[in-house]
Amino acid sequence: MAKIVLNKSHYFHNLKIISEHVGSKEKVAVVLKDNAYGHGLLEIAKLANEFGIENAVVRTIEEAKKIEPFFRQILILADNNLNTYSHSFHIVINTLEDIQRLPENTNVHLKVDTGMHRNGISIETLEEAILGIYKKKLNLTGILTHYRSADELSCDFFWQRSVFKQVKSETKIICEKLFLPIPKFHSANSSGLFRFKNFDEDLVRVGIAQYGYLETNIIFSNPKLKPVMSLWANKIATRTIKKNQKVGYGGTYLAKNDMKISTYDLGYGDGFLRLNGTQKYTTPKGYEILGRVSMDNISINSDDDEVCIFDDVKELAKLQNTITYEITTTLNPNIPKEIR
Ligand SMILES: *Cc1c(COP(=O)(O)O)cnc(C)c1O
Repeated sequence: MAKIVLNKSHYFHNLKIISEHVGSKEKVAVVLKDNAYGHGLLEIAKLANEFGIENAVVRTIEEAKKIEPFFRQILILADNNLNTYSHSFHIVINTLEDIQRLPENTNVHLKVDTGMHRNGISIETLEEAILGIYKKKLNLTGILTHYRSADELSCDFFWQRSVFKQVKSETKIICEKLFLPIPKFHSANSSGLFRFKNFDEDLVRVGIAQYGYLETNIIFSNPKLKPVMSLWANKIATRTIKKNQKVGYGGTYLAKNDMKISTYDLGYGDGFLRLNGTQKYTTPKGYEILGRVSMDNISINSDDDEVCIFDDVKELAKLQNTITYEITTTLNPNIPKEIR
C-alpha cells in the first residue's frame, strides 16, 4: 500500500509560527477532526502533545476518547451523545435544544451565530441560553463563533468580529448577574488568526495552518508555513511500451516514443482523487501520471521502487479545482503513516 510521511520538523515549524502569533502555546487548540485532515488522528495528537499543545478540537466523542491522554482540554464540535465522561471534554452547544440533552456538570462551549448562519444560537437568545445552561447545571467554559469569510477580502470579517464583541460584553453582564465565572472566548480559525494583528482572544482553533496551508487571499501577508504531509506510492510492475501504445482506462495516454513505465499502488480507492487523463500532473521529481487514475493503480513514467506523489498539495488542488483541505482529508485513513 501507499504511505503517508509526516515531516515532524515542518509540523513543529508551523506550530511555532502559530504559537508566536497568538502569544503562547496555551492559546492554541489544534483541530484534529476528520483524521486530522487526513494526516492521522493519533500521530498528529502525539506530535502536538510533544510540542506542548494542550488543547484539541474534534468532531465526535469517539475521536475525543482516542486522544484523551494527550490534551488538557478537548472541544467536541458536533456530538452530544455523551456516553463517557471526562473532565477534559467540552461539548459545543449548537442549539437551545442541545442544552436539554446534556447531563449535569458537563463542560460546554456555547456557539453563537454571528452571521455565518450555519451553526450556533442566535444572539437574541444569548441570555435564554446562558440561563438554560445555568439551570441545567452545566459548566459554561467557553463562548465561540465561526467566520464565514476570514479568507476573503471583504468587510464581512470585521462585521462578524464586531458582532462577537457585542456577544462578549453581553455574556460578561449575564454571567456577573448569575455569579458565573467568565467563559473563554474564541472565534478564529487558521485564516481568521492571521488577520488579527494583536491577538486578544483566549483560544484559536487552528486546522489547516498547522498542516502547512492557508487558503487565504494572497493579498494578506501570510506566514511561511511548510506542508507536513507527503504521499508515497510503491511500484507493482514495470513494462516497456512502444510508440503509439495507450495506457490505462479509455487509453487516454498515448506514448509518443518507446518508453518504460511502471504501475504504482495508489488510486482513487485510497482517496487520491481521480485524474481523468486530461489534467497533466507531475510529481515533485518531475515524473508524469499517465492517463487516468484507476481505483488502486496509477501509471508513471518511472521505474523507481517508490515515488513521492506530492509533498505539497497546492498545485494538485488547483488542478482538481478544489481546495487543499479536500485533497488531504479524502485520503483513506488506512494508509500507513510514518513520521520522519
Ligand atoms: C474546522 C473548523 C476549524 C478549523 O478551520 P481551519 O480553516 O482549518 O483552520 C475551526 N473552527 C471550527 C468550528 C471548525 O469546524
